[in-house]
Amino acid sequence: MKSPDFDYVKVQSIEHALGLLQTHGDNARILAGGQTLLATLNMRLSEPVIVIDITGLDVLRGVTVQNGMLRIGALTTHSEIEDSTLIATHAPLLIKAAPHIAHRAIRNMGTWGGSIAYADPAAEWPACLLALNGTVLIHGQNGERRIKADDFFLNLYTTALVDGEIITGCEIPIKTATSWSGFSELARRHGDYAITGLAASAERANDQLQNCRFVFMGVGTTPIRARKAEAVMNNSALDSKAISSAVTALRDELEPLPDLTNSSDTKRQLAAVLLERLLQSAAN
Ligand SMILES: Cc1cc2nc3c(=O)[nH]c(=O)nc-3n(C[C@H](O)[C@H](O)[C@H](O)COP(=O)(O)OP(=O)(O)OC[C@H]3O[C@@H](n4cnc5c(N)ncnc54)[C@H](O)[C@@H]3O)c2cc1C
Repeated sequence: MKSPDFDYVKVQSIEHALGLLQTHGDNARILAGGQTLLATLNMRLSEPVIVIDITGLDVLRGVTVQNGMLRIGALTTHSEIEDSTLIATHAPLLIKAAPHIAHRAIRNMGTWGGSIAYADPAAEWPACLLALNGTVLIHGQNGERRIKADDFFLNLYTTALVDGEIITGCEIPIKTATSWSGFSELARRHGDYAITGLAASAERANDQLQNCRFVFMGVGTTPIRARKAEAVMNNSALDSKAISSAVTALRDELEPLPDLTNSSDTKRQLAAVLLERLLQSAAN
């Protein structure tokens, strides 16, 4: 299929983009890497009056460290994150997750901000942002606002962004000497969206984990924190007994949505396997 007709504007400033968004409201779509939007246009799942191309806004590109925070600009591509030494040093979870996103050709085009805005529940970056306790930076007519990842992903493809707003980037607390993180996912073929995946982070001291954040992909309408399993592991000895209790808690709390080929029970089993493997690897 071919996309419907629409106006196209390549903006030169954030203010220009915000002005167009205010004029056109829900009839406007932002174009970043285009790896999701172009498909939805061609399938006519989206029929905007105007497409606002933000790829000329270099101010939204790149990775920096400021005041103990890693800042990832919205237009930073998946590949740039995958190859970044700053990310490898300060947020290695993202390096572990990046190769699971589609294929390199798509990662060369797709952007961090596009993935966070689209909020696919099986996507890697939203789960990682939540696991790393990150914050989404948003610009609108009233200036900047910041939303914690815990409050950002609201429902299927639905976030706390409102009409007229644009994601400019995200902030993630940088890794400390005691930080631990792990990533694992199961997909039918490499590069497919996850059937089930897990992004995890914690602080590790004296063979215990604290501040655990276990975030599952592909099991709900948003990335899902396994809060009961987190509570079991917080301040417990990192041993087989605690891991087994955490997996039991996970099985108890997780009610995965089935997809076309995997039942809820299958996904729960896969999630349990991923959690057990990651925690065992941390223990070892
Ligand atoms: C074959 C294929 C396989 C894929 N597999 C995976 C995968 O395994 N895992 C995965 O995570 N992703 C996967 N993707 C999606 C890919 O990661 C996309 O790059 C990503 O979802 C969207 O990023 P984008 O920059 O391409 O955004 P676009 O397609 O340009 O935009 C996506 C949506 O976000 C909005 N948007 C974009 N930027 C902003 C912004 N700064 N502020 C506000 N709204 C914005 C757009 O208006 C649009 O609604 C796959 C894509 C393809 C084509």
